[in-house]
Amino acid sequence: MSDVTTDRTAGDAGDAPAIDVRGLRKAFGELEVLRGIDFSVGRGEVVCVIGPSGSGKSTLLRCVNLLEEPSAGRVTVAGTEVTDPDVDIDRVRRRIGMVFQSFNLFPHLTALENLTIAQRRVLRRDRAEAERIGRANLERVGLGDKATAYPAQLSGGQQQRVAIARALSMDPELMLFDEPTSALDPELVGDVLAVMRGLARDGMTMLVVTHEMSFAREVADRVVFMDGGVIVEQGTPEQVVGAPRHERTRTFLARVL
Ligand code: ADP
Ligand code: MG
Repeated sequence: MSDVTTDRTAGDAGDAPAIDVRGLRKAFGELEVLRGIDFSVGRGEVVCVIGPSGSGKSTLLRCVNLLEEPSAGRVTVAGTEVTDPDVDIDRVRRRIGMVFQSFNLFPHLTALENLTIAQRRVLRRDRAEAERIGRANLERVGLGDKATAYPAQLSGGQQQRVAIARALSMDPELMLFDEPTSALDPELVGDVLAVMRGLARDGMTMLVVTHEMSFAREVADRVVFMDGGVIVEQGTPEQVVGAPRHERTRTFLARVL
């Protein structure tokens, strides 16, 4: 869909960036959490957002799919301005997969049922098709043998991989990850990161908030360092993690590396 009258910068949606954020501000009452954010994510690009707790990383992600309403600025997803008051936000959200720190699986549904419910309700797929796609995505995250398991029977890492498979089953154009491994026991982190590495290799567009610096170094095309609601610096992992230019970045990295 290309609509030049409502979108002056993105041009045709076919070559618009996956995410474009301009002058984004967000305040909760008196508290200014995002204080003018500009960045974009190209199609097929993997961008990791790092920064101290409270710097606004989650709020930024949540503004991309309008779980939070920006106070000012423009957010465009694949050529559609989501901050346009007339936008059909449910349609935009359908194109965005989101994976949080907490997996939020339905406890009374099996892994496969957790994958088919939104496909059937939102995408109106019939049961057979939803199950076929669900099983393929369980395979993709290495859980082909867990279709009938309930969340309580799965480890945290397995539950998070089900959550990733659930997002993938909706055929998203891009994926947002908010500290997907932060709630996991250390020995379970690797399997989840391996799945994310595979997605990156397959060309998925990904915006990932993470404290996993080795993942950021290996997988990210670009690293964005945030502090105090602004982007302090961004660049390749070699630049930002390997040779940070700002004192604040160095201080943060010294703590997490
Ligand atoms: P990060 O993900 O980098 O840790 P967040 O985006 O979660 O940071 O939060 C940034 C700041 O915004 C924090 O001070 C947090 O307490 C505040 N904040 C986040 N969400 C809300 C909200 N719904 N209401 C009020 N304050 C919030
Ligand atoms: Mg956060």
